Amino acid sequence: MRTVSHWIGGKPATGTSTRTSPVWNPATGQQQAEVLLASTADVDTAVQAAKAAFETWGQSSLSQRTKVLFAFRELVNARTAELAEIISDEHGKVLSDAKGEVQRGLEVVEFACGIPTLLKGEYSDQVSGGIDLFSFRQPLGVCAGITPFNFPAMVPMWMYPVAIATGNTFVLKPSERDPSASMLAAELWAEAGLPDGVFNIVHGDKEAVDALLDHPDVAAVSFVGSTPIAKYIHERGIANGKRVQALGGAKNHAIVMPDAAVDYASDHLVAAAFGSAGERCMAISAAVAVGSAADELVEAVSAKARATKVGPGRDADSEMGPVITAAARDRIVELIGTGEAQGATLAVDGRGLSVPGHEDGFFVGPTVIDRVATSMDVYKQEIFGPVLSVVRADTVDEAIAIINANPYGNGTAIFTSSGEAARRFQRGVNVGMIGINVPVPVPMAYYSFGGWKDSLFGQSHIHGPEGVAFYTRAKVVTARWPQVQAASGSSFHFPTST
Ligand code: NAD
Repeated sequence: MRTVSHWIGGKPATGTSTRTSPVWNPATGQQQAEVLLASTADVDTAVQAAKAAFETWGQSSLSQRTKVLFAFRELVNARTAELAEIISDEHGKVLSDAKGEVQRGLEVVEFACGIPTLLKGEYSDQVSGGIDLFSFRQPLGVCAGITPFNFPAMVPMWMYPVAIATGNTFVLKPSERDPSASMLAAELWAEAGLPDGVFNIVHGDKEAVDALLDHPDVAAVSFVGSTPIAKYIHERGIANGKRVQALGGAKNHAIVMPDAAVDYASDHLVAAAFGSAGERCMAISAAVAVGSAADELVEAVSAKARATKVGPGRDADSEMGPVITAAARDRIVELIGTGEAQGATLAVDGRGLSVPGHEDGFFVGPTVIDRVATSMDVYKQEIFGPVLSVVRADTVDEAIAIINANPYGNGTAIFTSSGEAARRFQRGVNVGMIGINVPVPVPMAYYSFGGWKDSLFGQSHIHGPEGVAFYTRAKVVTARWPQVQAASGSSFHFPTST
């Protein structure tokens, strides 16, 4: 059995803990590896390595950092196929989707390659007689990242390229369910010339996370995962005096207006609902069909759901793979049952799907539940599986009100040919990322990613300009260089400009 170890000080490390967690192949249902679960002492070793490395990396020049980032970019680009295979084997998503994830992560690396421009300060000449004022930003020190299973390459890349480019050192705690993509990233950093200790990995569970949250030498924590844990991370991190950005779960709605092209909307809806088996924080899990759009939409979406090819991620024919664990599959199946029991209509039932040759895999078929009420469990819970609920509304205002009454506010979309409806929607929804005829509106790396309400705790969105601000703090310098430093008499009034 392969054991996935930590990565500390530029090399693999086994640490002191002997606790492990299984790493499954979701397509076969077989265990393929075990991952070490770090103890508090192991986390301390990683943080000490990062702290020591900060002494020099924090002083490195912008050109030195940029050179390493460009080299890392080239290596990730060259090894994308290999990374995608690792992701597909441990997560289950299809290879093309896994490649897309690496590509979107790579875009953050490319953004971080522009760090000399991003870190330019401000300068005001002669703010008062003989006085200049300027600002610049400096790194925080050791930053930690705690990441979810659903994007094992991309989500960590939302964090560490920006943290490292801004002069910090980093300790990553990836999801214990698919830990190996991060290990390849660590090797690529080393090959790119990143000094030992700047990028470290500790694998683990709550013990490792708590050790990072409590460690006095960790300055900032970036978290992406489910809402209850995001809230917990935020509260504990803040209580320990750290900077925290904690991105949580989601229930993303897509409004379909009667003036939308049904074929176009249904194509995009099935991809957004069932892509990656619905295990995306930006997956559309609720369609809000307005007025006469509903019946035709349910019919079109159901036909496309039934036609979706479900199979192992490595199979080039598969459009959708398995879900992450047997427990996730069982939970999703149970929730679908509650939808039916609570009065919704199962238009397409994905329960009981068996993939020939992969009977033990963790598969659930695409599922469409019609006539869902907002009081039902399938609506209230983030199912995180291939399940699309259809809620019916009479007007766009009613649809917007449904979205705003939901506790989450990560992403949302509208399908319409009306600019007026789209504008009313974009201004009216209390959601961080909005798509207009775009179902999965993940912003490009040079914008920042983040939701509202229970989808984000803390002030900062991730990557883009807010990422640079999160990983740095500003200094403002007021400077006077008098020609002759002669005595000019003390003045005790509060300084004002002259
Ligand atoms: P999760 O919250 O279970 O785990 C995330 C991380 O927290 C993992 O590293 C895990 O080891 C750790 N963790 C789990 N339980 C913990 C505990 N009790 N104490 C401390 N740490 C703990 O999330 P997941 O199941 O891996 O990922 C799916 C969730 O992530 C979904 O809710 C999804 O919406 C969310 N997500 C959100 C975004 C976003 O950008 N908002 C992006 C991706 C995923």
